[in-house]
Amino acid sequence: MAPTRCPACPDGMKGPGKYLCITCWYALSDVTRRALNRRDSLAFGRLRQLHRQIADGVLLAEIRIAT
Ligand SMILES: [Zn+2]
Repeated sequence: MAPTRCPACPDGMKGPGKYLCITCWYALSDVTRRALNRRDSLAFGRLRQLHRQIADGVLLAEIRIAT
């Protein structure tokens, strides 16, 4: 699978299975990265929370994932 556009910055590219490009991923807080790294039945809900906050213009460092 080819890399696709990062949803959180204008020109970043993210690898297959990744939520964000490397630069944006490491701009997230440690706790948010840990939450997003858990791949369980709630993982899709966490991804939706991430995308919603990006769409709302929340700074990457301030994004919080509820579950
Ligand atoms: Zn990015």
